[in-house]
Amino acid sequence: MRTMQHTLSNSVHCSGIGLHSGKMVSLTIHPAPVNHGIKFARVDISHRPVIHAHFRQVIDTSLATTISSDGVIISTIEHLMAAFTGMEIDNALVEVDSFEIPIMDGSAEPFTRLFKNVGFRAQESKRCFFVIREPIEVAEDGKSVGIFPCDSFKITYTIDFPHPMLKEQTLTISVENEIFEQEISRARTFGFAQQVDFLKKNGFALGGSLDNAIVIDQSNNILNKDGLRYSDEFVRHKILDFLGDLSLLGMPIIGHVIANKSGHTLNHALLEKVITQTRCWQTSTWPEEDKVSMAAG
Ligand SMILES: [Zn+2]
Repeated sequence: MRTMQHTLSNSVHCSGIGLHSGKMVSLTIHPAPVNHGIKFARVDISHRPVIHAHFRQVIDTSLATTISSDGVIISTIEHLMAAFTGMEIDNALVEVDSFEIPIMDGSAEPFTRLFKNVGFRAQESKRCFFVIREPIEVAEDGKSVGIFPCDSFKITYTIDFPHPMLKEQTLTISVENEIFEQEISRARTFGFAQQVDFLKKNGFALGGSLDNAIVIDQSNNILNKDGLRYSDEFVRHKILDFLGDLSLLGMPIIGHVIANKSGHTLNHALLEKVITQTRCWQTSTWPEEDKVSMAAG
């Protein structure tokens, strides 16, 4: 785990289709100074409003994570935010010329590749972590997500959809940049053919296609001709989404996340609880050995 704050070594640029608008979106990501965090600037609006990627700015989690400030929104931020968290980038300014981040291939890999192409720069300040000291958990309708004391950052995620291809899948990973890049970043979002048709009829997901999602039909076939990128790609994508949601805390955590059938809405309920349960964590730069075992004990 990186102990110092990091940003990109240089600016990066990409463009792609917006999932909901179906229109081309252009994105430029710039390095940013220490303690800046991740911020989004809408360059298609004359005064270039800036929105901080923080859970207090979240206004909608139904189809994608949407943040807002003074009536200006940025939507579908979760895969890019997962790339920042997974690659341990603390500070960046994202300029975008639309209300949504391009969906690219439905995973975080196009963003991690851009980051790796320019490289990372260590900055002069230490990272500050939420060190979890007591369990924090939320549960609803048979779903749950919690964070438990641990000496590193780990996620155990279980999905169990009522569908033969999505029956119980569980995976535990340690979140560090190389593991994220290899094991999680390439996992794509997924949906059912009839669900995609319904969304399109109602004016959503106009940019959705087999180029940016795994699509499963009624006979349980995967319509993407190259099949899956990992045999358990579905649970890996849920971990990717979780990292995007967790990033909105604004600081990395040291703890073990255990999620069972959780989604964006329950994940955000967990963030709210983390902030209010102040006795369950302490903020710290990278803890010394004895502090970690104290937190773990
Ligand atoms: Zn996703």
